Amino acid sequence: MGDLRASMIDRPLILDGGLATQLEAAGLQLQGDPLWSARILHTNPAAIKDVHNRYLHSGADVITTATYQASIEGFVSHLGLTHEQAQQLLMSGVELAKQTVKDFSSGGLLSDRRMPLVAGSVGPYGAFLHDGSEYTGRYEEKMSIEELKAWHRPQIQCLAAAGADLIAMETIPSLKEAEALVELLREFPDCKAWLSFSCKDKESISSGKKFSEAVQTVSRCTQLIAVGVNCCPPTLVQPLLQSAKAHRKGDISWIVYPNSGEAWDTNTGWITSTKEASFAELSSAWVKEGALWIGGCCRIGPADIAQLKSQLHGKH
Ligand SMILES: [Zn+2]
Repeated sequence: MGDLRASMIDRPLILDGGLATQLEAAGLQLQGDPLWSARILHTNPAAIKDVHNRYLHSGADVITTATYQASIEGFVSHLGLTHEQAQQLLMSGVELAKQTVKDFSSGGLLSDRRMPLVAGSVGPYGAFLHDGSEYTGRYEEKMSIEELKAWHRPQIQCLAAAGADLIAMETIPSLKEAEALVELLREFPDCKAWLSFSCKDKESISSGKKFSEAVQTVSRCTQLIAVGVNCCPPTLVQPLLQSAKAHRKGDISWIVYPNSGEAWDTNTGWITSTKEASFAELSSAWVKEGALWIGGCCRIGPADIAQLKSQLHGKH
């Protein structure tokens, strides 16, 4: 997969956009499901493959597996699987993505295209709790670093064993959980990873800690190739990166993949009127700040990724 250190990347890598958004657009019901998009690994893997494929065709250099909310415990209790079947299902998320990349590149890639990477998604513990705490990180007070490591270990084991090119530790609201994740990563010395925080304002991660402190703490991990933010409004990205400028280590790039900036209202759903400058338009400023991994999260689809690609790589 090549060297992914910042100094070895000559132009930004394009990530994919939201997976769940596309599954919902295809008519699948995810809202209110404790397994969210991970259930579709069990019920309709072809739909996931189709979304991966659409992002590859839109120019994504990295696709992210449908395992954000996947856990052995969740699969056992919500799908009635055995422990071993749950492990297999988790691993199938990576296998599906790898197969899609293989099919996509089988006829040969265009000369300007690098071989797409598969990032194994790891969401926060709060996503499993399914009580909104993935956006506050408030469970961190009740859990030790060791407990958080124990929670994440089986999932990372599966993603690594299935051959993910790197691990995507994403939408992490809590610094304690981020510390647990980077400690845990040392148990998998061959794995590279990115760690991306969910943030609530221009300088703080969702739990309220400063983003700059979070960046400084996790940047000690030599297995990280990028650190950054995801699933925040696009307008928060630049101020967040600037707030932590002095704390990022040279060979760790910024990774950013905001959502569309539309607000979520529990009663009425997505409020679409707040969309400001397009996310592709803002992306050039993120590159100036040192972002080398750029994509989208919720409500960002294949067309936005294609626009991002032409903004950052030029039209082909
Ligand atoms: Zn998101």
